Amino acid sequence: MYKRIVFKLSGEALAGKRGFGLDAERVIEITNEIVEVRALGVEVAIVVGGGNFFRGVAEHAKEMDRVSADNMGMLSTVINAIALQDAIEKHGVQCRVMTAVAMDQIAEPYIRRRAVRHLEKGRVVIFAAGIGNPFFSTDTAASLRAMEVKADVLMKGTKVEGIYSADPVLFKDAVKYDEITYMEILKQGLKVMDLTAVSLCKDNNLPMIIFNMNQPGNIRRVALGEKVGSIVTS
Ligand code: UDP
Repeated sequence: MYKRIVFKLSGEALAGKRGFGLDAERVIEITNEIVEVRALGVEVAIVVGGGNFFRGVAEHAKEMDRVSADNMGMLSTVINAIALQDAIEKHGVQCRVMTAVAMDQIAEPYIRRRAVRHLEKGRVVIFAAGIGNPFFSTDTAASLRAMEVKADVLMKGTKVEGIYSADPVLFKDAVKYDEITYMEILKQGLKVMDLTAVSLCKDNNLPMIIFNMNQPGNIRRVALGEKVGSIVTS
């Protein structure tokens, strides 16, 4: 079992079958699993994306200034974070949202030592607004925060079973890797997480696990150290 995890949750995962915005049922399903993991004694931090509302690089944003578009993307992650916090607190589990962009009336500012203290006290911490800078992704935020709070693993939930040699939805002969190195991902340009995030994990030797989060119970299985999905190490 891992002591402290950072779980990267994409915005898309919260949209469920709707494909856009928030699917209340999916939010409840996911947070039920997160609360279950917390109850086992694992310290849980979540980095949430915002793609279910807005991405700076989206086609419909291409006429926009990239910085403005990315600011909108970062704000989308805050909406998701508040929805997750609300669903987690319904279980009586304490949860704090910390944002990389100051918005004191809505959430706490991200302060590393305070985040670590929350985790030590058993609170679920949700990191929102990415790293607070445009031209980055929440994948990179997840690896950065994982390093900062000294997490044991970075977990990323996806729609497929793990890392494949090619997109398994498009290529039926794609091979799944149970284990793979950071270097292989970078060399093959595999679209697992953005390359900045992978490089950061590589430089700091932080294991990453990519797994299917649509399979009920998988979040718990990964947190308990069961062999699920693909693990990335050096
Ligand atoms: N974003 C940003 N800086 C960050 C993190 C995110 O500008 O540090 C913006 C960027 O526009 C991104 C959007 O927020 O497209 C939503 O994040 P992301 O695409 O990573 O969300 P996900 O794909 O995980 O839902």
